Amino acid sequence: MKRVELLITGIVQGVGFRPFVYRTASKYAIAGFVKNTMDGVVIEAQGDDVRIENFISEIKQFPPSSAKIKDIAVKQISLKKDNRFVIMKSNGNQKKRSEITPDIALCENCLTEILDRENRRYFYPFTNCVNCGPRFTIINRLPYDRDNTSMNEFKMCSFCEKEYVSPDDRRFHAQTNCCEKCGPDVFLADSHGIDVSRGTDAIKDTARLLTDGNIIAIKGIGGFHLACNAFSTGAVKTLRRRKNREEKPFALMAKNIAVVEKYCFVSAIEKNFLISPSAPIMLLRKKRNCVAFEEIAPANNYLGIMLPYSGLHYLIFESEQELELLVMTSGNYSEQPICTDSGQALKTLSGIADFFLFHNRKIITGCDDSVMRVLPDGQSLMIRRSRGFAPESINLPFCLKRNILGCGADIKNTFSLAAGNLLYISHHTGDIESPAAFESYLSAMKRYMSILRIEPDVIAYDAHPEYISTIMAISRDFFNEAAKIPVYHHHAHICSCMIDNGLKNRTVIGIAFDGTGYGEDGTLWGSEFLLCDYFSFQRKAHLRPVKLPGGEQAIKQIWRIALAYLIDAFGNDCDINAFKFIKEISRQELVVVKKMIEKNINSPFSSGLGRLFDAVSCMCGLRSSINYEGQAATELESVLDENISAPAYKFDIAREEGKFILDHRITIREITGDILENVPESKISCRFHLTIVQMVREICQLIKTDTGINEVALSGGSFQNVFLSTRIKEILERDGFKVYTHRAMPPNDACISAGQCAIAGFSNS
Ligand code: ZN
Ligand code: ZN
Ligand code: FE
Repeated sequence: MKRVELLITGIVQGVGFRPFVYRTASKYAIAGFVKNTMDGVVIEAQGDDVRIENFISEIKQFPPSSAKIKDIAVKQISLKKDNRFVIMKSNGNQKKRSEITPDIALCENCLTEILDRENRRYFYPFTNCVNCGPRFTIINRLPYDRDNTSMNEFKMCSFCEKEYVSPDDRRFHAQTNCCEKCGPDVFLADSHGIDVSRGTDAIKDTARLLTDGNIIAIKGIGGFHLACNAFSTGAVKTLRRRKNREEKPFALMAKNIAVVEKYCFVSAIEKNFLISPSAPIMLLRKKRNCVAFEEIAPANNYLGIMLPYSGLHYLIFESEQELELLVMTSGNYSEQPICTDSGQALKTLSGIADFFLFHNRKIITGCDDSVMRVLPDGQSLMIRRSRGFAPESINLPFCLKRNILGCGADIKNTFSLAAGNLLYISHHTGDIESPAAFESYLSAMKRYMSILRIEPDVIAYDAHPEYISTIMAISRDFFNEAAKIPVYHHHAHICSCMIDNGLKNRTVIGIAFDGTGYGEDGTLWGSEFLLCDYFSFQRKAHLRPVKLPGGEQAIKQIWRIALAYLIDAFGNDCDINAFKFIKEISRQELVVVKKMIEKNINSPFSSGLGRLFDAVSCMCGLRSSINYEGQAATELESVLDENISAPAYKFDIAREEGKFILDHRITIREITGDILENVPESKISCRFHLTIVQMVREICQLIKTDTGINEVALSGGSFQNVFLSTRIKEILERDGFKVYTHRAMPPNDACISAGQCAIAGFSNS
């Protein structure tokens, strides 16, 4: 006989772990208990040696499907007198931390039940069990018990209660357990908030209205979606107009995997992600181009599609035979945060949605859908890490002495909290520049701190003096006692990639390619080759800086950027009449912008790779202005034809004060030559992409010769470009470099907060 205490950490709360332990204990006739604590799940188990061993190994090998065990610490303790195994209530007032479980998509068993006419949960949209349902979005505080979630308003009926206390039931200790009798309810309202129908009728009415071309705001798990029938081109167009979203692609939800496969190519890996408990939006290559898709994702080879992940979604599709594909975009206006509260949604979205499908379970933390893609080599690339993933912790390759808050960047924002060797990256908080978005960023930050019980000793923020997150971070009202540490944007990019790969402190060649980031010299950087570790960095190479006439305005009206690159390459007598974009600009505008460049009026220098992409995209005639971030680069990648065998364009490398400057003037001249000869843009795009790959190859070779370092870390939004990231990785590996790319984090600015935490952790201030 012996008794052991097990401490199990990882994603082990809210995933049916305790009931699973209970059943396993019964199987091996083990006495003792299991309970949730702030440290993780604690088990005391008493029995003969062999049984204890079998018990532990079964826990290790066959945990519940959504559980992720990080560690099991075992220690022997003295025998006690208990003779049965119990699930103990967790005691609330503990000091240590635990994990917040991400939301989990509806499981197979629950789906079968809601589609089964004989089942008491037939057509009940909030059906869940220990293996599925919302978690993070309904948690007020830890530990994960019903009282600490927004399910606390719903008292279980006797049927549900019986399931909850029966060890053999799938809903044994399922905190979200409920049914039509006792749980949340749905109701349909018109755009004035006046009730139309409730329950099953509301779901069926919604499905019919969607089929007929209406736009409906649907309250889901992490917030509202704006939904419409994807094949109703009129509805999609109306949605674009009302939402003030001109061309940015809309996400889709397909009835089932067969529908996804009808319209897109789906690999086995992609399919696994689609049907996984995280149920992200996957970017999938279109099979064919129907008119509807041109409206949904204009000038794009990919569609963002997810599968239903809550009972409500499944039941809407189930209600109308015709409905197979819905536009499901975040329920917000323009760049505002996703709506979570019914009253607020009615106010914000009444000009957009024709009807509202509400429910009466509170969403505590709003959380957008996650977005991923799979690269040709089978590796997954996170583009937005949010519902289903956040805020699961990431292990740091080192242990921090102080608690750190990383405030992130101002667009594609996440914030991070780090303590010990754990890093919690928040869900997607997006562009935080508007007052409403900033408010929601701040309140989410406070909620994380209180749930995770992390009070920061250090505040790390972007060095950009005009970021709203920077202004907040350095303000006296904001954690006055904490040390405040500014971090350079591209340093943060590379260090986030290092922790994403579990690298301990060491020096790497960091390549940070993006649109804009504030640099040490006060100019806008974004084509960085940094020699760096967690302590510091040295700028080893970058693109030749070019002026941005009008600053922010140039980033939208990219013809200004094209003009600046052309003038840089040809001098003032450059002939721009051959370019298509010239026809879209008035003579007067042209004169003004030329003068701005010439006289240095409001024309900050930028060396962002994103800007070079903008210029080339515009020169090719793809567009002269953009209406969402990254549009020009995305479209340049879309027209690229990989099957063309064409050489890279020329470029020069100059050595200047110990660093290399990549001079693209000859590149721009060669591209101009191709355009004059009517070379198709598919070929120009290919040659241009290959030029960037070649630049990376030569610079890495030069830095390696100088320093002997042969490890490269890649980060920045430009690495969302599949062709670019795949080719760069391939060629560097062929040249003998070890290449690190992002894994759990997106390469875009969503990774900045994580990098800030790492760098602040190594700082002495
Ligand atoms: Zn379930
Ligand atoms: Zn019930
Ligand atoms: Fe960036």
